[in-house]
This record gives sequence, C-alpha cells and structure tokens, in this order.
Amino acid sequence: MPFVVDLTDGSVEREDRSAETGHFGGSILGLRLLTERTPAGLDPYDPRALLYVAAGILGGVAAPGLAKAVFLAKSPLTGVAGEAHALGPFAAGIRGAGAKALAITGRAQRLSYLLVEDGRISVHPAEELGGLGTAATTDALRARHGEGAHVAAIGPAGERLVRYASVVTDYAYPAARYGLGAVLGAKNLKAIVCVGDAPAAVADPRALAEIEAFYRAAMPRNALAAWQHAGPGFGAWTGEPPAPGYLSVRNFSHTGDGGLRVPSPADYDGLAVATSGCCPGCPTDCLKTYAPLGVPESRTGGLGQEAFASLGWNLGVDDTGAVLALNALCNDLGLDQVSFGGTAAFAMECAARGLLTEGPSFGDAAAVTALARDVATRSGALGDLLAEGSARAAGKLGAEPYAMTVKGAEVPCFDPRVQPGLGLGYAAAPGGPRYDALEHDLDFEPGGALAYCLPEAARIGAEPAPVGLLDAGRGRRTARLLRLWSALDAWNICLFASSPTRPLTLDHLTALVTAVSGAGCTLDDLLAAGAARLDLMRAYALREGGGPDELPARFHDEPVTAGPYAGARLAREDFARALDAFHAELGWRA
Ligand code: SF4
Repeated sequence: MPFVVDLTDGSVEREDRSAETGHFGGSILGLRLLTERTPAGLDPYDPRALLYVAAGILGGVAAPGLAKAVFLAKSPLTGVAGEAHALGPFAAGIRGAGAKALAITGRAQRLSYLLVEDGRISVHPAEELGGLGTAATTDALRARHGEGAHVAAIGPAGERLVRYASVVTDYAYPAARYGLGAVLGAKNLKAIVCVGDAPAAVADPRALAEIEAFYRAAMPRNALAAWQHAGPGFGAWTGEPPAPGYLSVRNFSHTGDGGLRVPSPADYDGLAVATSGCCPGCPTDCLKTYAPLGVPESRTGGLGQEAFASLGWNLGVDDTGAVLALNALCNDLGLDQVSFGGTAAFAMECAARGLLTEGPSFGDAAAVTALARDVATRSGALGDLLAEGSARAAGKLGAEPYAMTVKGAEVPCFDPRVQPGLGLGYAAAPGGPRYDALEHDLDFEPGGALAYCLPEAARIGAEPAPVGLLDAGRGRRTARLLRLWSALDAWNICLFASSPTRPLTLDHLTALVTAVSGAGCTLDDLLAAGAARLDLMRAYALREGGGPDELPARFHDEPVTAGPYAGARLAREDFARALDAFHAELGWRA
C-alpha cells in the first residue's frame, strides 16, 4: 500500500497493491510503478517522473541486516533505473512514521519538504532551506519536528541538478549513487521528514530473537563481520598498501607501485564522531563516522568503504585528514563520493594530458575540495561542466577514453582487471555499475582466506575459481551471485550482513524473511525475487535505450604493470564469452 504523493497539487492517495504477489513492498514494487506510471523516454527531471522511497516489508525492523531503505528513480546520470540504498536509521524512521513506501510524482511550486507523521503525509514550504547543506537542513527540520525525526535531505548539489547528487539521511548515511538527489531537486523537494515511533510488525518475534542471538555469537568468528565491527572499521583503510591493480589509483591510469601512503589505525585516533548505533538492531556497527578536527561539519563524515579510495588514491591524495574532510564535505553538499571522485579523477587526467587547461592536478587536495564546492553549486565553467559527470564532460572535451564509466556512471574503485567478476557485474548489472551489489572474486578463490563462504556459494551454483580466470564459468558464477544479491535488494536486506561472506547464511536469510513477514520463504523463493528484480531493471533499461554492457577500453587494453597481478587485463574475446554466459544464465538475450 504505497502512499502516492503528487507534489504539483499536494494530493496523497494510497494505492492498494496488497493483492499483488512478489513485490515485498520494496524495489520490485518501485520498478513496477516506475514502468507503469511513466512513459518511455521521459526526462528524469520531468514533473511526471517518479521517485520511489521504501523500507519494504523487512527494512527498518530492528534486527541484524534490516536497516536498508531503497531510493529509486530514472537516473539523470544513466537514463535507466537508478537504485541507491541508505543504511543507518532512516528505514526505521519510515516504518516508525507509519509508512512502508512512498511514490512521489509532480513538482512543488516552491522548495518544499514532505512530512510523514503517524501515517499521514503533508507537503510544507521550505524556501528558507534553499542552498543549505544536508546537515543544516536536518538541524532545521529536527528543530521543527523534534530531535527524533528522521530526515533524508539534499544539499546544494541536488538543488542545482548535479547529475550525481545524493540524498543524505540522518546526517551521515547517503543513498549516494545515480543522481537521485537531483531527482528530488527537480521536484523542488528539499527533504523527506519521518516522525513517529510505530513499531514495525514482526510475525514471529521469538524466531527473530533466535536469529539475532545466532548473529551476535557468529559475528566475532566471521572475519569480515569482525573487521566491520572493530575500530577503525572497514570504511577506514589501514594496513599494507594494496597490490598494484587492486584499487583505482589516479583514474585507473596508474597500475604500478603507486607510492601512496596507507593510513595506520592510529591515524584515526581522535577523529571518531560516532562508531556505534548506526543501524537499529544490527550489532555490526560497520558504518562509522570520522572527521578531522576543525572541519566545518563533522556529523556528515559517515565513511562507506568506497569513499576512501574514490576520494583518496583515485585522486592521488594520501593525506588521511584531507580524505576524511572531503568525504564529510561531499555528504554535506549532497554529492556521491564515487561519481564525484571519478569525475574529479577524470578532470585531473585530462589536465595532465593537456585537454583541460584549468583542471586540477593529481594529489592537489585543496584544489579538489574547492572543486567539490564549485561542482555542487555549478560555479564557474569547470564546476558546471563536471556537474554533468565524466561521460558527458568527456563528450564535450573529446576525452572519451579517460571517462571511466559504464552506462554513463562512474565505476567503483575496485579494479576489474584483477577481479573480472567485478568487471562483468559493472558492465552488465542493468542499473549501472555498483559495488554494493557485488562481491570480490578474491573471496571465492579456492584455498583463499574466506574458505568458510565456499559451501554457501556452492549452494547457489557459484563454485570457487582462481581469481583471474575469465571464462564462461566466470560469467555464470557472476550471474548467480548477482541474482542472490539482487534478492537481498528486493527484500531490503543488507549485503554486509549476509551470505555467502557474512554471518546470515542462506538458511538464516530465508528464516529471517519468514520470521518478519510470516510468509514461508525457501531458497528458491529468495532467488526468484532476485531474478524478478533484475528482469524488471533489464526490461526498463531496454525500454529506455540504456547504454551497452561494456567497460571502458582501459580495462581491456592497459595491463597492470607491477606486483602479483602484473599483466592482468580483460582480454576482449574472453570478456565477450563470459558476458554471453552471464546473459544466458539470466535468460537474457545480449
Ligand atoms: S551489516 Fe553494517 S551496514 Fe548492514 S545493517 Fe548491519 S550495521 Fe548496517
């Protein structure tokens, strides 16, 4: 029963989809509404465009791995269905306010915010919030509606229609990717405020308590979950320098020894703003907030795993404080760290090659900080150009080889030359390249460090394989893993708590769905939901004429030049064969 809100006239209806099966109130329902209610070819900024925000049946329940809120719309960056997720407390906020899903259409006459309170929806003017960062916006709306209010806000980037603007929930937890903040901006919607403390329904609390007890006991024994839980956490890179070719360094152009410093755990001492309590009911506490002393706004320093590399080594910057400050600034401005990092790195490479005379230099942290502000406000010719994203900017500069994008969106920071399954996922996921829908090939190596996850992966037909292998089997394996992770998205379950690599095994996942929803769920049911979601995204992408399933040429043509992965690249013929197998496994024609 999603609330359907038309911002043009302020009307609110409830659409009864309760007799319809297989949507679970989350991403699948959003994709159905997007397909049904919007005509093909609609501009993402058209008032008729639809924005879907949902906790679904499971999201927002206080339990391990159930903190995911989905944000979905036609992406201004890719032109296909852009789906981003906010972890943290916002999903619980939606449930507490008496809603599970919102479908928002129309455009408000003036800057406004949406209030969801005790099962009622209303639209309110917010002109005085124009131009404010997400933190000041959240402060103002909490002052009005109580400190317990949950707020999803856009910053200046969303208002100025930056194509990779994010929506930031509760200061620190962005739904970062694909420019959904700009969709709010086009609707004159500054924020969504959720007020209320209605409990989320759970069909079998005792079964849920048993799953939680299992999770708490298993967490210390699971290497990844233990790492996520401990300080400084898995968003805070420390330790040995990554092997050449593992991560993007300088726009993926540098695949030798980067010479860039890796922080030590001590570098984070004194910089923690919050390290626990991020996701209600989940003991993992993996989303920690860090900011260096003296930054104008520290509460926005929520550190996702991609942020450090995207804004650090990708830009030739290895000053921990500078990277943390830029991360916090991106959240306050409402900029996706991955796409901003990718676009800034593109500009730096163009400058180094003489294609962009005013572009910043690799390693210039001060320049990139100034650039973030210019992009978010579209100030100056360069800020305005780069606000369009690197693919569009490359088209204007004649610099296409240096835009590291798929379907118009910047690729995540993990280099696919070393892990070809990641590359297949970047290229072929119908919503665009996304890291939190994939896992590392390195995790599924025979004899690798995560041997405990191999039996789980084998249950869905993903047998272990040497990390660099790129063949038809890799294509099938990637498709099967993507189907599982798509199922997690369909049910609003967090990847970072789940099988094959984290404590919630496949059996626990089906038990979790059953305990909360009351409907029986088998592994086949789980995977069918994942396949249905992928099929809907693929059909929408085909309808909208989305970009091809291909990677930037650099990953095929420029091998890693040093270290244990020296020589790694994605041979085109092998990649094509694996992609064919990927499509065939999902029943898609290429
Ligand atoms: S695993 Fe981490 S990100 Fe996922 S719900 Fe738990 S605390 Fe949140």
